Amino acid sequence: MLNIRIEKATTLKEKPDPNQLGFGNIFTDHMFIMDYEEGKGWIDPRIVPYQDVVLAPSAMVFHYGQEMFEGLKAYRTKSDEILLFRPEMNIKRTNTTNQRICIPQVNEADVLQAIKAIVEVDKDWVPSLPGTSLYIRPFIIATDPFLGVRPANMYKLMIILSPVGAYYKEGMNPVKIWVETEYVRAVKGGVGFAKTGANYAASLKAQMKAKEKGYTQVLWLDGVERKYIEEVGTMNVFFKIDGEIITPSLEGSILPGVTRDSVIQLLKDWNMKVSERKLSIDDLYLAHEEGRLEEVFGTGTAAVISPVGLLDWDGRQLTVNNGEIGPVARKLYDTITGVQCGTIEDTYNWTVKVNQ
Ligand SMILES: *Cc1c(COP(=O)(O)O)cnc(C)c1O
Repeated sequence: MLNIRIEKATTLKEKPDPNQLGFGNIFTDHMFIMDYEEGKGWIDPRIVPYQDVVLAPSAMVFHYGQEMFEGLKAYRTKSDEILLFRPEMNIKRTNTTNQRICIPQVNEADVLQAIKAIVEVDKDWVPSLPGTSLYIRPFIIATDPFLGVRPANMYKLMIILSPVGAYYKEGMNPVKIWVETEYVRAVKGGVGFAKTGANYAASLKAQMKAKEKGYTQVLWLDGVERKYIEEVGTMNVFFKIDGEIITPSLEGSILPGVTRDSVIQLLKDWNMKVSERKLSIDDLYLAHEEGRLEEVFGTGTAAVISPVGLLDWDGRQLTVNNGEIGPVARKLYDTITGVQCGTIEDTYNWTVKVNQ
């Protein structure tokens, strides 16, 4: 159990118009912080007014990027309960990431307590319009003032909160995807499975290239052969071919998504054939030519399910399901969002109440 000190903000900010919410541009009144010092462990857990962080210019995070982050959401139900969706998985993944980039482990129960506490303090910021939620961003940075390359001895764990709007304002429109054959996101043995900033810095170039060409996201191929499909943008990816639903297996270069895991469980329970295995871009195009490709969609916390309508691989354009949302993507979206906001019974015990 953490003994969290709470310092409330003396003036509260004006809440934004819930109809105008975007993503990640507005922050709540408070934040959670906890420090780590070698020999002392994680110390001084506190909730303070949302404020700037003062660090030495030599703080290690600025130079070698030793940082991790997570992303999850809190949802307001019709009966004004506030629910988190599978937060234990995000916290477990925090320790998987930490392990890979030499950040000390966190106590999982303590981090869950911290998330609940900060959301409780700023609970008036959890919006209630359909599709809206409070995005929760826990992250850890290395703070030693030191320029040598080694794991840091001092860290800060912070949690900030941001009310976010409905991802699909004009309905779920399938996105256009650029298959990237020059740049890669991650390789086996690297940090692709870890939620660390390095992966995102490395992805920007291809993302810009896709944008310039008029595409929304990048489809990443494996870093060795540029042949096997890995992820789409910052989402995991699923394909329905001949009735079989395929998602790339987790072999070190793919981020193990909470949404991905939830989708696999649901599909299995719906008695659909779901396989975690390698799928090459050639086999995908072949399946399409033979009329066997039924659906493509991405999965992640931000959009939940994001249908793909078109792929472009070296100029070869492939239209999926006439550019329309498929029935599997639709059913998954309705089910997961229903559980998240409490309109569908949570038979999996996926949700956790903030205010018991
Ligand atoms: C966060 C993330 C995902 C999705 O994970 P969720 O837990 O479902 O939000 C997928 N791929 C990448 C690269 C990510 O950063």
